[in-house]
Amino acid sequence: MNEKLKPCPFCKSCKICCDVSYTFSVKFYQIRCENCGFRTGYVALKRAAIARWDDEYGVVIDNDKN
Ligand SMILES: [Zn+2]
Repeated sequence: MNEKLKPCPFCKSCKICCDVSYTFSVKFYQIRCENCGFRTGYVALKRAAIARWDDEYGVVIDNDKN
């Protein structure tokens, strides 16, 4: 996927993906950490799901560069 998602705030994994669910033929999206399984709730817009991840859970872990 093209979107840059911040690492998981809990396990620091960068393996973040966007899941799609169909409910009554309506698409819903959620952002999920593939490592620890933490995920947001479903929202109707992919952009909103990503924005929510960034706003609520996205933690910039860039203090020490290796
Ligand atoms: Zn995680």
